[in-house]
Amino acid sequence: MSMPQQRRILATAIPGPRSRERQTRRQAELADGLGTTMPVFVDRAGGGIIVDVDDNHIIDLASGIAVTSVGAAHPEVAHRIAEQAERFTHTCFLVTQYDGFVDVAAALNRLTPGEHAKKTALFSTGAEAVENAIKIARVATGRSAVVVLGHAYHGRTSLTMAMTAKNVPYKQGFGPLAPEVYRVPSPYPYRWPSGPERAADEAFAALREIVTTQIGATNVAAIVAEPIQGEGGFIVPPPGYLAAVREFATEHGIVFVADEIQTGLARTGAMFACEHEGVVPDLITTAKALAGGMPLAAVTGRAELMDAVPAGGLGGTYAGNPVACAAALAALDVIESEDLVARARAIEDRVRPRLEQLVAPGSVVGEVRGRGAMLAIELVKPGTTEPAPELAKAIAERCHQEGVLTLVCGTFGNVIRLLPPLVIPFDLLDEALDVLVDAVRSLA
Ligand code: PMP
Repeated sequence: MSMPQQRRILATAIPGPRSRERQTRRQAELADGLGTTMPVFVDRAGGGIIVDVDDNHIIDLASGIAVTSVGAAHPEVAHRIAEQAERFTHTCFLVTQYDGFVDVAAALNRLTPGEHAKKTALFSTGAEAVENAIKIARVATGRSAVVVLGHAYHGRTSLTMAMTAKNVPYKQGFGPLAPEVYRVPSPYPYRWPSGPERAADEAFAALREIVTTQIGATNVAAIVAEPIQGEGGFIVPPPGYLAAVREFATEHGIVFVADEIQTGLARTGAMFACEHEGVVPDLITTAKALAGGMPLAAVTGRAELMDAVPAGGLGGTYAGNPVACAAALAALDVIESEDLVARARAIEDRVRPRLEQLVAPGSVVGEVRGRGAMLAIELVKPGTTEPAPELAKAIAERCHQEGVLTLVCGTFGNVIRLLPPLVIPFDLLDEALDVLVDAVRSLA
């Protein structure tokens, strides 16, 4: 099948009749707990376009939540998936082994920050990778406490939902929550009470105090941080914060885990977002962009930590599935050979100035932030910093009706985030921004 035409086309109102028909069936057949951002059903996708069953061509500013960085149908990824599926779809790596698993591990050991000896274990989902990073850190340190940040998102499984900050919809009613998870303030510059310039020092001081006086540093197995907080609102930590936490962790024998599931693999204009801060984590979790849309996740880190768990302690039936590994090898090749790190920076250069034009005294756009192709606007009541979630929702919906897929995020539901495929053609990106900027201006 050829790549969809790289053009926005509104064939019907969105959602169109075919999508609406399917929506009725979906409501009858699916659990209500499964949400949806845009009520269309997809027929095909690729590059910067998603084609729905009514033949609407929608500009993709979501990438399936930062997954399809190389596009949803990169020919190389599709080819390697087909080739692998013809050879074999599964053996379970824990039963009989195959090269793809080792090849992906070697690639991650090479690409992740730090010159130390590294090892990798593969899993299927981001949450599973985070859980396994904690298992590894606990065995390696003989400690149990886990420190996470305000506004954090680490997943929906039992342990990771406890590590996630936001209650509704992620935790409400799902308790009891896993124990030994402690939260410290996120250095959220835009909302830091004493001002952005004090966020790094004061948030780090709070972490130090909570860890040393309340938890006890010798009880802490891991500090886990997203180097740019994703679901929490694309919060970029102020310069110096991550480095201070990294140093503190080293000083106290705590494993510093960077959750790069959303930020990793070129998205932010560096292979890993930690690199912007010159920080080398002990363990890094990856997923999302890793396998071009196939379910694959990884923990990569210091060999001595990774080897702490005895054989049999890590794994899973589908962990490092061979088809997902083939897709990952293709996606990683594309990321490197098409220099998608530079491409993410070029996207920032193109998008940021357009978004910054929306910020002015009394504007509904309180802040533009993010890095590379991970950019967002935070919407507020004019002249205040009070969150405006209804406005964010209305803007996103207007974009959807106009054939541009945007996502909302943030603890307060007031952040519109842009996560385009890194391969999106620039004319599509410009057109999507026209639609977004119009929606902001007309709904403000
Ligand atoms: N960590 C981060 C930083 C994420 O953004 C996500 C997913 N949004 C996860 C963990 C969980 O990944 P998954 O949904 O694949 O379990």
